[in-house]
Amino acid sequence: MLHARGSLLTIDVGARETETADIDDELESFIGGRGVSTKLAHDRIPFDADPFGPENRLYLASGPLQQSDISFTGRMNLTGLSQLTDGLLSSNAGGYLSRNFIGTGHSVVEVAGESDDLLAIHVTDEGVEFEEVPELAGATVPEVTDEMNDRHGLESENLVTIGPAGENLVRFASAMTYDERAFGRGGLGAVMGAKNVKCISFQGDSPPEIEMPNEDVQMDVHRQAATSDDIFRRQGTTHLVQVLNDNFGLPTRYYSELSFENAEKINGDRVEEKKYKKAACSVCAFACKLPTRDDASGLETEGPEFETIMAFGSNSGVDDIVDIMKSNDMCDDLGMDTISCGNTIAAYLASEDEFGNVELIHELVEKIAHREGIGDTLAEGIERVHEDLGVENWTVKGMDFAAHEGRVVHGQGLSYAVSNRGADHMYSTTMIDEYNDVIPAEGTAGKSEHIIDNENRNAIRDSAVVCQFGIGRIIEAEIFEALFDEDYEDLLSVGDRIVNLERHFANQRGRDIEDDRLPYDLPDLESSIQEYYEARGWSDDGVVPETLVADFAQAADD
Ligand code: SF4
Repeated sequence: MLHARGSLLTIDVGARETETADIDDELESFIGGRGVSTKLAHDRIPFDADPFGPENRLYLASGPLQQSDISFTGRMNLTGLSQLTDGLLSSNAGGYLSRNFIGTGHSVVEVAGESDDLLAIHVTDEGVEFEEVPELAGATVPEVTDEMNDRHGLESENLVTIGPAGENLVRFASAMTYDERAFGRGGLGAVMGAKNVKCISFQGDSPPEIEMPNEDVQMDVHRQAATSDDIFRRQGTTHLVQVLNDNFGLPTRYYSELSFENAEKINGDRVEEKKYKKAACSVCAFACKLPTRDDASGLETEGPEFETIMAFGSNSGVDDIVDIMKSNDMCDDLGMDTISCGNTIAAYLASEDEFGNVELIHELVEKIAHREGIGDTLAEGIERVHEDLGVENWTVKGMDFAAHEGRVVHGQGLSYAVSNRGADHMYSTTMIDEYNDVIPAEGTAGKSEHIIDNENRNAIRDSAVVCQFGIGRIIEAEIFEALFDEDYEDLLSVGDRIVNLERHFANQRGRDIEDDRLPYDLPDLESSIQEYYEARGWSDDGVVPETLVADFAQAADD
């Protein structure tokens, strides 16, 4: 089976020591990216670790496909114990980092410990250098890029950087790369901040040796990506604003309504009007990114994408796309997940009856990043502050709800309940099958196997590492089989092990059925949760049996 072949570099930022090791046979069986990182995190982070303590670890990892020229592979994975969800969490970002990362010869970089001084860490194919950067305390993401460029000639595509939000331990802080691409959901930027690491750079010219199979398949994917007339290539995810608002629901005014009366003012057409050039990630001919500019104000940003438009638009009662662009740009500069930041602000707007107050929204973005005044409270995220605000808790396992409406597409709703990542859409992406009538939108009964297949496939997606926008469009099961020289069912079983390790870790932290809860009811929800547990081989309380984890270890040895 194809798997990442670079080494594992461990950087202890407290001791300022490094160690390089081969990835062993057991890790190889987890492919790369999220798979290898989850296995390492599960085995090396103590189950009772404080996410902000030195015992937490971060894993930046590429997969085998980052050494190919296939479209949809310009991505990287970041894994750690999230202080937002209190579980192992993997996040995924595009841009141009991945090819610089593999140039160092490593497939996984593990960051352990905690530094006394704010650090920039420089990883090359010749070693690791630690640079104390106290003068960069409080710097925004672009300011760090400029400084690293002046000092070392580094570009944004070499860097993973946190802004003030990460340093201030905002629970939904992003780690940013290429200035505008975010390892966003779950807030692992705050873990980087807790370790006192401002940025990590990667450059080198020594990628690991790997034999990429099946040149024909690689070329075919690339050709299809380059010639597709998919609307994603013009509008990214933003075309979904109107489609979902009109057909499946769009969270509005802190989830109190299911459609936004001014959706046409913030939809994909409005974003496309602001788009001024094409953009992509490394080697990706699909090129779905959205550099936007407002000529009147001179504001330039990338996006906003669909989820950001929901959080800072409909869910905050805002109907001007330029105002949303500004919120997006501020979050990128300050280093925060646009979805969680927007939704948390929407919770505050609900408590103050201030929907649509754009000046207040932009003031709150700044205050959250710097933990000033009410921003200090909101920086904790909805789950921890909703009672103080007097609003409903629109989260699952601490993760605020994505835009895809589980109250309408019920399989996605069930998936939000049982997901290790909480109410995030990327974990199972079951809503896509419900939008496209692959399965009916109504009801949860009988959908568990489908959700599990999706979760397992997406675990492989994040281990390969492949972009979600290739999945189901061009990169289907037979493409996976051809690329990995492996039966698709066997690949899914690798995904199954990854999901189970995440859940097992959560169980050891006391997570069980009590945490698989939604703020709304769905048809047959309780019995469908049990159906899901049974299909996964878990107990009635949602606990992974120790025997199952032992079986996985044995399977990897075999
Ligand atoms: S499809 Fe879009 S987000 Fe995905 S790798 Fe290509 S350019 Fe990047």
